[in-house]
Amino acid sequence: MMLATVGATAAALPTLVGWRATAGGRWMNGSAVAQALAWGAFMLARPLHDRLFSSLWIGLLGLSLVCIWHALDAWLMRRPGRALVHAVALITPLGYGLGFDSYAFRVGWSNFGLALLLGCVALGCAWPAQGIGRRWRAVVLVSALALALVTLSRGVLGAFFTELYPTLRTPHPLNVAGAMVQHVALALITLGLLAAWHDEASRALQRLAATDGLTGLLNRRACLEQAATALATSRRYREPLAVLLLDLDHFKQINDTLGHEAGDTALRLMAEQLQLHLRPGDLSCRYGGEEFLVLLRRCAQAQAMEVDARLREALQRATQAHMGRTVSFSSGLALCQDGDIDIQPLLHRADMALYEAKRSGRGRLAMAA
Ligand code: GH3
Ligand code: MG
Ligand code: MG
Repeated sequence: MMLATVGATAAALPTLVGWRATAGGRWMNGSAVAQALAWGAFMLARPLHDRLFSSLWIGLLGLSLVCIWHALDAWLMRRPGRALVHAVALITPLGYGLGFDSYAFRVGWSNFGLALLLGCVALGCAWPAQGIGRRWRAVVLVSALALALVTLSRGVLGAFFTELYPTLRTPHPLNVAGAMVQHVALALITLGLLAAWHDEASRALQRLAATDGLTGLLNRRACLEQAATALATSRRYREPLAVLLLDLDHFKQINDTLGHEAGDTALRLMAEQLQLHLRPGDLSCRYGGEEFLVLLRRCAQAQAMEVDARLREALQRATQAHMGRTVSFSSGLALCQDGDIDIQPLLHRADMALYEAKRSGRGRLAMAA
């Protein structure tokens, strides 16, 4: 039954997820395949070579747990116990093969090893992960713990109460219960890992939906969402908030004379200066083609003007170094006022000021009325 279940799972998972999935997805596929091979080896042990194929069975079961641990490591960032997991997965089948002649030893040794690996998987789920995948982690955690408990009791019984221990192929109540737990846990762990993979894909999609592909900055929609929160906070605590709208000067001319790639380089250099020169709490985004929006928290007029000047100087320096000519920008500055209950009036004033900056000669900042 295990062979049928895990064999079907090993065929279905890569079909659903694809072999060229993310690292986590590949470890998940690998775990299913190792499980299927493990139970294949188990079936071959009696007819072919008991010691060899039984050791293989234990080794592959361990390997499938190592794969699950690595999937967790990929999805949840750095899990504890990597060296322990590798060491236990290696010495468990080795000890089992070497001590095969003592029934009590091999049952105890292999079950303790596998229970320890299951414990590491459970720990990998329980270890803090910045709120990622609470639900699927709980499902995998409970399943791994249930399996660890069954495996551990098998080990204790086999090693210390050997005469009570029914061999795995006996239709003993303990074996029936163990097989049931194994099937349920396997189904739940597979579901949990699939949910993890889906979770990873949707987080990647969310990141993509919020960023601008060329510059890596937030895009307009994501930035305006965050700007609304920043504005509400500033109003609540009566802190100053400044909005800068920047527009690269004569950008069409750069495209026309140096080519679109040079234009793209200028946009990337602008984004780089924003990332380098703004404070962590500030917001910046690619607002449109060659326009950038900057939101400066706890920032009054004088400081905002300083930031603007610093950015302009940095962009000129960077473009001179990388493109052989300077690119500058014009900017409009607006400050949050009592009546600004949403971000639109602020943006409108910054836009008007930007227009004024362009009109009065470019390469400068204009202050909203
Ligand atoms: P001004 O000083 O008045 O702002 O003049 P400008 O040439 O910068 O302004 P205009 O609005 O006439 O031109 C903006 C140009 O930006 C036109 C468009 O082709 C270019 N552009 C928009 N997005 C991109 C992009 O992603 N890459 C490149 N290379 N060019 C872009
Ligand atoms: Mg423009
Ligand atoms: Mg422009």
